[in-house]
Amino acid sequence: MSGGQFEFEVVGSRRRTPRVVEIDLRLPEGRPFSYIPGQFVTLHLPDGSDELRRSYSIAVPPREDKTIALAVGEVPSGRATRILFGVRPGDRLRASGPFGRFILREDETLPRLYLVGTGTGIAPYRTMLPGIERFLARDPERRRVSVLLGVRSPEERLYGDEFRAFAAAHPGFTFLSCQSRSLSDPPEADERRGYVQKVLAELAPDPAESVVYLCGNPGMIDEATELLKSRGFPLVNIRREKYVSSN
Ligand SMILES: Cc1cc2nc3c(=O)[nH]c(=O)nc-3n(C[C@H](O)[C@H](O)[C@H](O)COP(=O)(O)OP(=O)(O)OC[C@H]3O[C@@H](n4cnc5c(N)ncnc54)[C@H](O)[C@@H]3O)c2cc1C
Repeated sequence: MSGGQFEFEVVGSRRRTPRVVEIDLRLPEGRPFSYIPGQFVTLHLPDGSDELRRSYSIAVPPREDKTIALAVGEVPSGRATRILFGVRPGDRLRASGPFGRFILREDETLPRLYLVGTGTGIAPYRTMLPGIERFLARDPERRRVSVLLGVRSPEERLYGDEFRAFAAAHPGFTFLSCQSRSLSDPPEADERRGYVQKVLAELAPDPAESVVYLCGNPGMIDEATELLKSRGFPLVNIRREKYVSSN
């Protein structure tokens, strides 16, 4: 199905945080939608006489009921935002995909993964959780995975409860919520103040044993890439997915 065009049916939608709507989609007649965790779909949205093409990471691991979910962040005055924040069950959305190579390599030779995302840029890592579990189980003594989420405040912590539960159940996994504007009162153990790239710098990943994934805000990705390069990371060990509009 890679690259093909088709129509999704909206089967549900809900606010996940004050500025993120999660939309459940499925193909007609219960057909399965195959994808690799970390991939995205491109929606073809009617906008007057135009067609907007906007891409969204798939935000759930494959589900038994064959639905997928997208986490759509609110962009002020955004054209796709306006359409997607108003969808209702039964609506149809034209789409193509799945696309992308921002995927977890479970056979990674380096033992330490840092998965960094801002806002909805955390969605691919949620989809990767079963793969992260397998990655850790193959060499529990050496392998470690950290997810760093960048948001402004505690209420924007998209999927935070799920990452916390995963961290509690998997000793090799840590979750840090990096908040640029405010912390909880009192601060929780996994909260850090400041931008996610600042917290990443403080963690000082070792280029000899680490691979870093960066997803979301293009400015964060550029800054984090410069930081990692200056600390000796080869580009091949910096995997990137920039969230930018295509037209
Ligand atoms: C591979 C890929 C995966 C993506 N996955 C997701 C995802 O899972 N969830 C998600 O919410 N988005 C994702 N995006 C971004 C998404 O495709 C749209 O760009 C985003 O929804 C804004 O579209 P819009 O039409 O509402 O805004 P537009 O009408 O395109 O933009 C309105 C204004 O906001 C600015 N702008 C555009 N995007 C942003 C932004 N993200 N933050 C701040 N300002 C912005 C524009 O420069 C413009 O001035 C992804 C992008 C790519 C390329």
